[in-house]
Amino acid sequence: MSVAVRFAPSPTGLLHVGNVRLALVNWLFARKAGGNFLLRLDDTDEERSKPEYAEGIERDLTWLGLTWDRFARESDRYGRYDEVAAALKASGRLYPCYETPEELNLKRASLVSQGRPPIYDRAALRLGDTDRARLESEGRKPHWRFKLEHTPVEWTDLVRGPVHFEGSALSDPVLIREDGRPLYTLTSVVDDADLAITHVIRGEDHVANTAVQIQIFQAVGGAVPVFAHLPLLTDATGQGLSKRLGSLSVASLREEEGIEPMALASLLAKLGTSDAIEPRLTLDELVAEFDIAKVSRATPKFDPEELLRLNARILHLLPFERVAGELAALGLDDADAAFWEAVRPNLSRVAEARDWWAVTHAPVAPAADDPAFLAEAAALLPEEPWDLSTWGTWTGAVKAKTGRKGKDLFLPLRRALTGRDHGPELKNLLPLIGRTRAQKRLAGETA
Ligand code: GLU
Repeated sequence: MSVAVRFAPSPTGLLHVGNVRLALVNWLFARKAGGNFLLRLDDTDEERSKPEYAEGIERDLTWLGLTWDRFARESDRYGRYDEVAAALKASGRLYPCYETPEELNLKRASLVSQGRPPIYDRAALRLGDTDRARLESEGRKPHWRFKLEHTPVEWTDLVRGPVHFEGSALSDPVLIREDGRPLYTLTSVVDDADLAITHVIRGEDHVANTAVQIQIFQAVGGAVPVFAHLPLLTDATGQGLSKRLGSLSVASLREEEGIEPMALASLLAKLGTSDAIEPRLTLDELVAEFDIAKVSRATPKFDPEELLRLNARILHLLPFERVAGELAALGLDDADAAFWEAVRPNLSRVAEARDWWAVTHAPVAPAADDPAFLAEAAALLPEEPWDLSTWGTWTGAVKAKTGRKGKDLFLPLRRALTGRDHGPELKNLLPLIGRTRAQKRLAGETA
């Protein structure tokens, strides 16, 4: 049987690093196994699901290179869920309940105050036809709970190892709301079964759902998949990421922070695993290194600074072709490989290339604070064409003529040619600046 996994976000908000890490791990798992990856939108919460969030999810995954082989949308499948619900009702596994949310809260509070777990007491199972008729005549509509078997539920989790739950320690889950709409606990199982998902890889916030859902798989006659529950990412202080979603959304990392897709992928593929985090330029390399057995049970910490450092390391390695589109989007249409190779060692974000473009291609007010020396240097500028050896030839001649060396030689030249104390190697910049500009800048002119 071929491996099939899914990433099943709810389009109720922007994807953040925590969600997209699960997408990536599923994708890597599929690619490694030669299996397929399904993108499923869990959009049955019609009040909170929005088309723009669905589009955002597709955009983010595409940007990262996480292409999907299959696509499904839960809101297209209500007919199928109704069919399954009808069968579960007929077999007595779904039963109608009439408690209001307030009544349920009271029940829970009372159990908790007695030091007991807040498990639903199945009072609705004891209702007779006349009770139900009376409740419905009062205008109450039923929601429907799944009757769990009070037997052990066990699975071998690919991350957590053997997991054991007692059915009797779990509340019968509500699968159908009062308005007839099916809930995630059911829809996810129906989809996983119908779409032949072999491995469910998701966050450890779903461990208790898994216990319940295994029984639902069995009740609907679906093959129970293998499960893997990954610890959720926290921030550097150990707090859950949910409170900082805005700044950690994939969209803001891309659009505001200038993070490269492979920087995010290189980090998220390795975070919380036994592998070192290293810059990788292609997803194929991550596929080759991926093994779910490397995922540890310890809580991984996501540090935006680490991501930015990795972004810089990736930029220092990326060839021009991989950033040409981004440079053009910054308005640097004429940027070429020579420019990119000159400036990339000084960048942590592609957008910073604009500053160096301004130095090589726009007027710069030079810091020409040693005019006599600069005039001597200008007189020694070689004729063009210039190449990567020009800087060495020129400064060799300046050194021989003036007797200056080291910082006394190089810093005034850098300050005059670029207007700055630091920057990319002048060997690389000088040919980009060109003789005309260089000569003017050495003369203290803005050029
Ligand atoms: N829509 C669910 C969520 O975002 C999917 C969980 C699952 O993978 O089953 O939490």
